Amino acid sequence: MPEGQRPRPQPTPETMHFWEGTKAGELRLQRCNSCRKVYFPPRPFCPHCASREVSVFRASGKGRLYSYVIAIAVVELDEGPRLMTNIVECPQTPEALILDMPLEVAFEKMDDEITLPLFRPAKG
Ligand SMILES: [Zn+2]
Repeated sequence: MPEGQRPRPQPTPETMHFWEGTKAGELRLQRCNSCRKVYFPPRPFCPHCASREVSVFRASGKGRLYSYVIAIAVVELDEGPRLMTNIVECPQTPEALILDMPLEVAFEKMDDEITLPLFRPAKG
């Protein structure tokens, strides 16, 4: 893999709503209709209570830096679930990457099918 190139995700029927969402500029999560918990990554049943009554909704796109190693970050979304991603528009240094820093989603188009949800420091 060339330096700096991100691995290309492979959409599946279970994750299609997510990739359709990023393409449309929306971060989509799933919520269980039974226990109301929000979860990620996408799956057709609730990881908490196994209910198959789940719905897709548009997340705020806001979260906080939960952890990282240089180039790979884990963002805890305001809605609760954690997402593995990259931080952009920010130096990749321990001085700039501060745990719990507020972030917001920044969509980056990879090709016609895939748009990646990356995160940048929140403005304001
Ligand atoms: Zn549930």
